[in-house]
Amino acid sequence: MNITKQQMDALNNCLKCSICVDSCPVTRVDPRFPGPKQLGVDRLRIAQETGEQPNPAVNYCSNCKTCETVCPSGVLVGTLNQLTKGDLPRKGLGLREIIFSNNSILGKLMHIWPQAGNLITALPPVRKIMEKTVGIAAQAPMPAYSKTTLRKSLKGYQPVFTQTPKEVLYFPGCFTQYNKPEVGMALVKILAKLNYKVIIPEFKCCGQPSISNARLKDTRRFAEANLRILKQYLKPGMALLFSCPSCLLTFKEEYKNILGMEEYTEFSSAMLDAGEFLLKHEKQLAGLISASGKNILKLAYHEPCHLRASGLGTPGLSLLKQFGLDITPLEAGCCGLSGSYGLKTEKHGIAEEIGMNLKKAIAASNYREVVTECGMCSVQIKHLTKLPTSHPLELLAMMLKE
Ligand code: SF4
Ligand code: SF4
Repeated sequence: MNITKQQMDALNNCLKCSICVDSCPVTRVDPRFPGPKQLGVDRLRIAQETGEQPNPAVNYCSNCKTCETVCPSGVLVGTLNQLTKGDLPRKGLGLREIIFSNNSILGKLMHIWPQAGNLITALPPVRKIMEKTVGIAAQAPMPAYSKTTLRKSLKGYQPVFTQTPKEVLYFPGCFTQYNKPEVGMALVKILAKLNYKVIIPEFKCCGQPSISNARLKDTRRFAEANLRILKQYLKPGMALLFSCPSCLLTFKEEYKNILGMEEYTEFSSAMLDAGEFLLKHEKQLAGLISASGKNILKLAYHEPCHLRASGLGTPGLSLLKQFGLDITPLEAGCCGLSGSYGLKTEKHGIAEEIGMNLKKAIAASNYREVVTECGMCSVQIKHLTKLPTSHPLELLAMMLKE
């Protein structure tokens, strides 16, 4: 791994306090992963001095970023681990990693006939074959594909503006595009009421799945294409909104920290979580919300790891509380799935074990529904608890006056 001077300085800032080790969800449940300090910081320092090969156990890092959130010295341990993964010798074709890294292609293929795709990939014999051939755990929860895509849903929607609208850009991400277009539709409808026209260019995947699957060449391809789109569409003063915390983190931090693409820094202040943007319009939004929304009772809120890593707080939760919903933050840590991590045969058990804290916290109270911004967290929560899930934007859109 070619480590930059900046990254080496960050390593040298490590206080050896081990706070990251105590907080790492993988180390907590699996002794094969010695932890962010031993595996990341210490190992990388030795590797820089001796040229020693990375420890293959680094593959067990889920890139949840919890270590970075708690580190008092700002060491980007999770990020350095993803860079290290790329230096490990590859076994075979890595078909599973190719599939997970290109989930927009998978989304397009599944949308030829999504209902049939969902049915076939849920059949136990098919899951057994997938486990044996590709290494996708037969018992892992698979995200279902929606009957329609966000792009198709938008074709049937004509917002009505009472005055010339302002414009925002929106990066929906693959999950909203192919699995849950309702989230994107909710944002478009809320913004129309606030007199914003939403522009959704043909962005590529953000590349977070390819980072975690050690396919940084794919990440660079996506990042370069997305940069060309940003330069074309993002006008001065315009915001670029995200409804998925992992996509936002990738644009704001990962392109710079993992790929060294400093060009993204100039757009950083325009990149906002959708909830963060709506909080800035809180007063105007309050006039659009119906009091009947307060009848939605007993919600639990799960904060996605990548939202915490963005350091934005929980703007979606703040809005829902502000508008009177009975919603309790769970504070139970990582859900365990971490994107495609928990779908892999050798990691599915780890993901289940990590998710037990969340499962217990939800079971401890009589919650009716769990709210979270991350699509894959919602897949894991449904799998662990059988409860319905929603994105804060969906609840806000439901509360809009006609
Ligand atoms: S939390 Fe930060 S400073 Fe402490 S051991 Fe981990 S990397 Fe080093
Ligand atoms: S990113 Fe998550 S799994 Fe990886 S070392 Fe940090 S805390 Fe552990």
